Amino acid sequence: MTDTQQKRICSQCGTEKENSFCGSCKADTPSDINISVSETIKVRDSLRMRKLGAGIKKFLGEFLGGWFPSGDPKLPGGVDKARAIDREKNEYHEVVKKYGTDEIIHETHEQLNKHQK
Ligand SMILES: [Zn+2]
Repeated sequence: MTDTQQKRICSQCGTEKENSFCGSCKADTPSDINISVSETIKVRDSLRMRKLGAGIKKFLGEFLGGWFPSGDPKLPGGVDKARAIDREKNEYHEVVKKYGTDEIIHETHEQLNKHQK
């Protein structure tokens, strides 16, 4: 996301003003237009959580989500991947979205024991 801010600055005293009249100079003065562009840079991070069953060494589920690089040249910004594995319910879910959008590239919902890596 890019924000553009335009400021009108009095070229005589440097005070920001709304129109050609400068409140500091108490006169119409030449203006400098100061344009600042700021870009919001999204933090790219991913997280990994494992649900551990009490007394059970093997984890019961896994949730993995966040930003991942994409090997696809059409997706230079990477992808937003969310994967959930629930061993108790025997479910596997994976949703891959174009990063920063709700555009789903692909999704998989299946039984974990039928899931082929
Ligand atoms: Zn001024």
